[in-house]
Order: sequence, then structure tokens, then C-alpha cells
Amino acid sequence: MLQSSDPSDFRPTPDNKPMPLAEARARIVAAITPIRDCERVPLQAALHRVLGETVVSRIDVPGADNASMDGYGYAAADLAAAGDTLQIVGESLAGHPYDGSLDAGECIRIMTGAVVPADVDTVVMHENTRAEGRRLVVEQPPKAGSNIRAAGEDIAAGATVLAAGCYLRPADIAILASVGVSEVAVVRRPRVAFFSTGDELRPIDGPIEPGEIYDSNRHGLAALLAELGMEGIDLGVVGDSPEALRAAFQQAAGYDAVVTSGGVSVGAADFVLDVLGEQGSVDFWRVAIKPGKPLAFGTLGNARFFGLPGNPVSTAVTFIQLVRPALVRMAGGHPALPIRLDLPTLADLRKSLGRENFLRARLVTTDAGQLAVDPIDHQGSGVMRSMSSADCFIVLPAAQQDVPAGEMVTVEPFAQTLWGHPPD
Ligand code: AMP
Ligand code: MG
Repeated sequence: MLQSSDPSDFRPTPDNKPMPLAEARARIVAAITPIRDCERVPLQAALHRVLGETVVSRIDVPGADNASMDGYGYAAADLAAAGDTLQIVGESLAGHPYDGSLDAGECIRIMTGAVVPADVDTVVMHENTRAEGRRLVVEQPPKAGSNIRAAGEDIAAGATVLAAGCYLRPADIAILASVGVSEVAVVRRPRVAFFSTGDELRPIDGPIEPGEIYDSNRHGLAALLAELGMEGIDLGVVGDSPEALRAAFQQAAGYDAVVTSGGVSVGAADFVLDVLGEQGSVDFWRVAIKPGKPLAFGTLGNARFFGLPGNPVSTAVTFIQLVRPALVRMAGGHPALPIRLDLPTLADLRKSLGRENFLRARLVTTDAGQLAVDPIDHQGSGVMRSMSSADCFIVLPAAQQDVPAGEMVTVEPFAQTLWGHPPD
């Protein structure tokens, strides 16, 4: 592991031992300062934002005891005394409560959501009764107290509805509306500058010559940032020279985070680490994963800096594994732990010792109805089809070797919760 008292002195050497992923992730997340600035937005604009305040309810939800079934309401003690036959004296509908009282042997017709009057303690569902004019025969009496939702049973007045740091999903918007919240404070979105490095890169809307490639990573990064709800700032393509990188770094230093692709290895044209060491500081370099080993994490001005490798699959894997949890934290949220499943692999897996591997794969249901995982054939770190046609990673630990078909392996689905709950 890199140890340097003055990080600006840092110059990477291939001898720096790559850091295990779990350690790198914990170290990165711990180095993040969550954004505190908030803005107030109308409730409907708060979807997929991080709640910046704890919301306490002013009211009970529901506000009164109410029926959970269409049926008839009565006092259970009366029903027994009346031999399961009652007189219907009125009705309570949602929005139109019954405002009279009930005497012995009486009941009211009551609908779902309607207020339960004080004299009623039980509701029998319509299907278990027989009405004959104003006479009601209760054919199957429920237990006393049945089919009534108590006032405050969902949320009591004074209770916390949602804690600061919640990522707002549709159910959260609904629950905030249920307590009469029309506007909420949400955390400002992190502003994340990103750029690609490489003299071979060309814009996607023009021609390319042999030896040139389209700058696909920058567009992939833009999409990953947008998916996460970040405000992305596209700084374009930067050439492989220290001068060009210095200018780009200066421009990027004012944002909350910087994500770059390429130029972070030990090649003759890889200057990202040098310039980061000059203008900021390097916390660590290299993570023991495949794909994605060369990765620089550090600080540049106000920004946390993530120098990702240029091979497109490596860029995506390192973003997902390391940048995403960091940005969730920066956004005021709580990164969820990845969900992992143990499933049989349908094909042999090649694996050499040393690094944790993230193979791209698909979840499948076998003819026998069992969930299994099918690795994509071509696992090259430049083969973006392996990522695009996958829906999960097979995660093989550093010490693992080849795995024969049929063995159980650890699988991380792509579709999983990224935003965990604030601690209670
Ligand atoms: P590097 O990390 O700069 O050594 O690049 C590793 C490989 O990824 C090389 O084959 C690059 O051409 C390729 N690469 C680098 N940046 C990009 C990019 N923005 N889009 C697509 N491929 C890239
Ligand atoms: Mg390069």
C-alpha cells in the first residue's frame, strides 16, 4: 500500500501494491464529505433527490379510526346480546361521516375509509351479512375490533416520517404527501466534472482515421453520472501531454468531484498521476481488481479526484464499484451494500490468482426452473459488448482459480438498490 507523508511527493511505481477493492471502497467513502447545501423544491420535483431535512408529521395518519372494508359497523357486545341481528340506523361514507349515535342493537352501513363513530368497535364485511330492509343478519361475525384502522396507525403526529439522507422514491413522495408536505429541502446535486484523455480519441460526430477511436468513455461516463442524478460537467477530450492536462485539471478543480478516463497507467503517455501529484494529492493508486487495476484516487482543489483507466470495461467497472458509492455519499445519501447471490455458473471460468475479478454475465433461468449465471464469452477489458449485453457481474475473489461449470459463484446483479437508508 502506498504510504507517503507528503502526498504531493508521490510518484507511482509499479511496486506500489494494488489495494484490495473493499479497502479502497471504504477508504474512498470515508474520505468523502457529504454536501450540506440544500434547496427547497415542490414535492413533485423531489423524486430521486436526497432529503435534506428530517420530516416530522404534524398529523395522525389516518386522522381518525376508519373502516378497512365495506360492510356494517356495530359494538361487538351488542351483537351478541341481539342474537346476531341488528337494526340499520344510518351510514358512514368516506368524506361523509355518520354524525348520530348508536343505541343497543343498532348498526350502520359503513364504507372503506369512512370514519368509525365512537359507538362502533367492529366492522363486519358486507359479504358476511344479509340485509333484509333495515334489518341486518350478521352471518359470520368477525372477532371484536376487526376491520378498523386505528387513527395514527400509519404515522402518529410527532413521529418522524422520513429522516434526512433518504433517497426519495415514489413511495416516499406519497408518504410526504399523506402528511401534507408540499415542499421539501433536498440536497444540492454534486457537480461532477469529467473528461477523457488520449491523443487517439475523436468526437463521435465526425470521421475517424486508422489508429483513431471514437471517444466512447466520455459518453458512457455522462450516462453513468446522469443515471445517478449527478450534475455532470463535460470538459471534453484532453490530449496526452502534461500541459494539456494541467489546463484541464485547473478547470476541473472547482467542482465537487472529477472523473477522468485514461492516462493513469505507467505508459509513456500516461501523465494523469503526475499532474494530480503536482496540482493536488494522490491518496492511492491501483486497485486489485480485474478489469480496472490502474485507478487514481486523490484530491484536486475542492474536488475528489477519480482517475479511471481508459479501457472501456475498466472505466465502467471502476465507476460502478468505487465512484458510485462515493458520489452517493457526496450527495448526502448512504451507499447500499451490493446485493450478492450465490448461483451456479453455466460455463467454465478462467481465473488467475492475485486480483478480484468482475466477469460480465447474464442471469438465466434453466429448464429446471433454477436461477443460474451465464458468463459472456468475450471478457476483454476493451470489449464493451461484454458489459452492454450483461446484467450482472460474477465476482471471483483474489485467491480463486479456474471455476468449472456447475460450481456456485458470487453474483452481483446490475439492477440493485444503490441508495441505502439512513441509519435509525
Ligand atoms: P489508457 O488507460 O489511456 O492507457 O487507455 C487504455 C485503452 O483504452 C486504450 O486502448 C485506449 O485507446 C482506450 N481508451 C482510452 N480512452 C478511451 C475513451 N475515452 N473511449 C474509448 N476508449 C478509450
Ligand atoms: Mg491513453
